[in-house]
Amino acid sequence: MDEVILIKLGEMVLKGLNRNTFEAALLRNIRRRLNRLGEFDIKAAQSTVYVTPSKGADLDAAVERIAKVFGIVAFSRACVVKKEMPAILEAAGEYLKSDLLAAKSFKVESKRSDKHFPLKSPEISSEVGGYLLKKYPHLCVDVHQPDLIVRVEIRDFGAYVHGQPLKGAGGIPVGTGGNAAILISGGIDSPVAAWMMAKRGLELTAVHFASPPYTSERAEQKVIDLLTRVSEYAGRMNLFIVPFAKVQEEIMAKCPEELFTIIMRRFMMRVSEEIARQEACSALITGESLGQVASQTIQAIACTDEAAKMPVFRPLIGMDKLEIIEIARKIQTFDISIQPFEDCCTVFTPKHPRTRPEIGDILTAEQALDCEKLIYDCVRNVRKLQIAPHRNGGIYER
Ligand code: ATP
Ligand code: MG
Repeated sequence: MDEVILIKLGEMVLKGLNRNTFEAALLRNIRRRLNRLGEFDIKAAQSTVYVTPSKGADLDAAVERIAKVFGIVAFSRACVVKKEMPAILEAAGEYLKSDLLAAKSFKVESKRSDKHFPLKSPEISSEVGGYLLKKYPHLCVDVHQPDLIVRVEIRDFGAYVHGQPLKGAGGIPVGTGGNAAILISGGIDSPVAAWMMAKRGLELTAVHFASPPYTSERAEQKVIDLLTRVSEYAGRMNLFIVPFAKVQEEIMAKCPEELFTIIMRRFMMRVSEEIARQEACSALITGESLGQVASQTIQAIACTDEAAKMPVFRPLIGMDKLEIIEIARKIQTFDISIQPFEDCCTVFTPKHPRTRPEIGDILTAEQALDCEKLIYDCVRNVRKLQIAPHRNGGIYER
């Protein structure tokens, strides 16, 4: 029996004029994601994307990957047959056999978008229903709360039979919203923030601040592992690893200890913004959540933002830790995030960070530093890696 994947387009069908751009991006993203699984014919018609495998293509893996492509509300693995009733009946009886055997009740829902087909939708449903009742005498029809809904669709390219559609990842296709740089730590929050903004159509560039010799190579590997998971949704991305120890040492030596964190975060913003600009990104993303730690009060965030000109997106700002963890588990970053490796932020944490910093004090304190040179050195010594889904470990470019 020939199988296909039928994909229902998401929010993007509402986008009117932009619809073609969105559809093209979605097709491109699906193609990329299925790239190594064999040959697939992928085409769009009537708000549906059809994914048809050639012989030998891995449809099971394709289903798993399509579940992680943004821009898809729901999709179905379906059996496709000729638009003739005998073929449709046979498919309904065979393709969903194990579901039909397991169910006590069912109903048939039919949709005829090819109006040349001689039977109307209710007639198709009743013929298929009658056939299934005869073939599976243990079943009864329940139109209100059936265990199983058998779906029959008569479309341009054939007749399709399938059961329960699977939930898509939602959102809008990556790449349609522009580019942004995610400041990624090894923590729980920033990978979730990355995922959330990719879901809104942003293509990501990642920036990570590492502080060898204070932080280990394992801490960097953790970030690579996290981003590899995120890239299953967000697609391939570049990761820039910034050597940050020098900046931290300078701040520690020359600025009041209670302002350390906030000044360090301002440097993260400035360096990230410089990298973002070079990579044609137009926004920064962080995993901050209001009130979570000392550097995430309104006053601290205001002081951090003052260092950046680009808009800073903080998708987690109003979320509780438990809500964030729920997403982290869903996207399978949680178990990686809780591995115990030192982050550059934890190494130099002051004992009593100021929770209500004032920008005047910060600017005065920063006068002790050669900010331009520190930023320049960070950007000059950055390492670039490529992150791609389903590859273990990043690939170094330089
Ligand atoms: P996370 O779980 O993402 O580490 P957090 O709750 O621990 O967040 P902070 O450590 O204060 O909070 O960091 C706030 C945000 O700053 C992070 O979500 C991330 O966007 C950014 N950030 C922190 N550390 C780094 C780092 N080493 N490299 C890049 N960005 C970082
Ligand atoms: Mg952190």
